Amino acid sequence: MTSTPMHIAVVGAGLAGVTAARALHEGGHAVQLFDKSRGVGGRMSTRRTSWTPDAQREHALAFDHGAPSFTATDPAFAGFIQDAATFGWVAPWAPRMAPASRAETATRWVANPDMPALCRRLAGELPLHRSATVTGLARVAGGGWQVLVDQVAHPGTFDRVVLAMPPAQAAALLQAHAPTWAMAAREVAMTPCWTVMAVFHQAAPEWDAAAPSTGPIAWAARQGSQPGRDAPDNDDNTATASDTQNWVIQASAAWSAQHLEDDAATVSAALLQAFQALPGLAAAEVQWQTSHRWRYSVPRNAPWAGECTAWTDDALGLGVCGDWLGGVGVEGAWLSAQALADAWCDADPAAPGHCHPSPAMFEAA
Ligand SMILES: Cc1cc2nc3c(=O)[nH]c(=O)nc-3n(C[C@H](O)[C@H](O)[C@H](O)COP(=O)(O)OP(=O)(O)OC[C@H]3O[C@@H](n4cnc5c(N)ncnc54)[C@H](O)[C@@H]3O)c2cc1C
Repeated sequence: MTSTPMHIAVVGAGLAGVTAARALHEGGHAVQLFDKSRGVGGRMSTRRTSWTPDAQREHALAFDHGAPSFTATDPAFAGFIQDAATFGWVAPWAPRMAPASRAETATRWVANPDMPALCRRLAGELPLHRSATVTGLARVAGGGWQVLVDQVAHPGTFDRVVLAMPPAQAAALLQAHAPTWAMAAREVAMTPCWTVMAVFHQAAPEWDAAAPSTGPIAWAARQGSQPGRDAPDNDDNTATASDTQNWVIQASAAWSAQHLEDDAATVSAALLQAFQALPGLAAAEVQWQTSHRWRYSVPRNAPWAGECTAWTDDALGLGVCGDWLGGVGVEGAWLSAQALADAWCDADPAAPGHCHPSPAMFEAA
């Protein structure tokens, strides 16, 4: 418990935001979450939609179209995930891999029963403002912050603000108050990812996922092969017709970058064709499909991970966390948020992992 409880706004309710918010709340601070989306999860995302093949039938569909899974190698994150598994929040997933897939050894984990579920659990009953795009931060005379949601000041003031979002979005909010941080954030490149979600007839090979080492596809996974998706107590009713199979197909970063501005129909056609060329899928027929272009999927690298896993400025009352600071991927988002919360809960300027970055550090990166 910190000696001086503060009012803290956490902007962004992906894993970094909800992890920071939960830890700050448990440290005795009064936290409010803001997210521009309708729900939590950010890039740990499941698309829910429906497919109506004819007037009599409508099938609910669910696609894990953001992070399809994650690994836990850092001891602290691995410990958190083991604890989460005992509560059923996450589960290991060992898909049968297609021939010639990239080799992998680490255990894959998925949130249960969908990818945002881990963030929903962590957010719990914390105050959450949904569909609330933060367009600016305003300093209050005497200290503290006002949060502008769609250009309008949100009621009340905050002692501190956490930005938990991809670097380009953080940079826009940092520009007026921490221009050096904004400039450094803009330097962090994120890879794009074109993703196709499709319902097929006759797409039931003897494997659940493919990670080809060549060609446009980086990852393809049969939906429902992840643990918990079709469990009887899954009241989201994600089961589909038994003669069809639902797949998420994700393009490689290089292919996505090359085709970033192509129209969705052209991209889908290319990725579906590449998918049908995978082993055992020659007869697969597309019944329904849609696509999503992630401009920011994963950071190309995390230049300050370990050395400066979260950025904090106590005098200004500003903190920044996210996967691009903690290390690439879900694990990095959690580590970054935890470092920020440790610093602000212990009020320990020497707490490991976070720092008040100096211009020299940015120059060295
Ligand atoms: C296609 C794809 C594949 C991936 N594959 C993997 C993988 O295999 N393994 C792995 O570990 N990771 C993977 N990832 C990355 C992983 O999803 C992220 O590292 C992690 O979820 C990042 O969490 P975060 O909280 O830092 O950011 P985010 O999840 O991006 O959360 C940021 C939140 O901030 C909100 N926001 C942004 N700007 C504002 C604003 N101005 N006002 C209010 N809210 C705002 C957003 O709506 C979002 O909810 C993948 C991601 C994608 C998209």
